[in-house]
Amino acid sequence: MKAIQLVAHGAPGRFELRDVPDPQPGSGEAVVQVQACGLNHLDLWMEEGGLPIPIKLPRTPGSEIAGTIVAIDPRSTGSEWKVGDNVAIQSNLFCGECEFCKRGEDSMCLRGELLGVQRDGGFAEKVSVPTRALVRIPEGVDFDASAALTLAGSTAMHMLTHRTQVNPGDWVLAIGGASGVGSAAIQIAKQLGARVISTASNEAKRKLALSLGAEFVVDSNDRMWSAEVRKITNKRGVDLVVEHVGGEVLEKCFDCLARGGTVVTCGATAGREVSFNLWPFFVKQHRFIGSYGRNRADIQKTLEWAAAGKIKPVIDSIFPLDQTAAAFAKLRSRHFLGKVLVEPFEPESESD
Ligand SMILES: [Zn+2]
Repeated sequence: MKAIQLVAHGAPGRFELRDVPDPQPGSGEAVVQVQACGLNHLDLWMEEGGLPIPIKLPRTPGSEIAGTIVAIDPRSTGSEWKVGDNVAIQSNLFCGECEFCKRGEDSMCLRGELLGVQRDGGFAEKVSVPTRALVRIPEGVDFDASAALTLAGSTAMHMLTHRTQVNPGDWVLAIGGASGVGSAAIQIAKQLGARVISTASNEAKRKLALSLGAEFVVDSNDRMWSAEVRKITNKRGVDLVVEHVGGEVLEKCFDCLARGGTVVTCGATAGREVSFNLWPFFVKQHRFIGSYGRNRADIQKTLEWAAAGKIKPVIDSIFPLDQTAAAFAKLRSRHFLGKVLVEPFEPESESD
């Protein structure tokens, strides 16, 4: 089969499209024919060698996979899965046996592994994964939608419905309304009855955030954007900030909080170290919550919501497998709206 392999780290890294042996299902595994695979900032860190995890090259990246089962470990009898099933794949692979997995917190697994980082991922025609990482794609959700929501959308679902709670009438600030996590967070918060404010760096992103359900969008290039958020809420502040950027953005998020408010964060693309003023933090009884990945239940919920039309993927562009490096370049350029996907096979065209 054809697979993209990262052979040298860098920005850009060096990718090669190679012929590699077809993956075989290992113990308890299934082989999935990849139909679409989404790109995420994680892929850029992987490309650059910027993850605090040892990585062995060459490696096939790609963690947000939708596809069809083409083989299953013959020893796994009584499996709920069969060849031909359409599946999304949970990218934070988990052992299923540790203390945390046993209580459904697979995102806290003690022996977790990242698909597309610590083992070969989805920028390939096929991928082999443990069957416990499979989630059925419901009727009415196509491969592109699934690949555009599985990772970023379920990350937002985990943040808003598992790590924190949104009550009807709450003010929610979703950082980066045109990003994968931000665009999903706006829609989820809106569905939960919140009033949503978002941030965007240009007019196109602002319009997108508004179309997804944000009531107000502040300009993230304006150094005073947090003051703008306070003004919108009549100086009260917001109940919840959904944050995934880190750095100075995270510092400003605390200025946006109402008393008793919460910042939940799942990323640090703009910086992993922040300074933190403890005085307003405890006086205003704020909460600061970390969120990592997602549990299987979060993916199921995300795809169910997609099937019910409650959350829609935002797709910027789709690249063929041999153009994966260009897809990475697009993500690094930051000139995109929504998700960038890679597909290994030509979509069936009606015109020919
Ligand atoms: Zn575990």
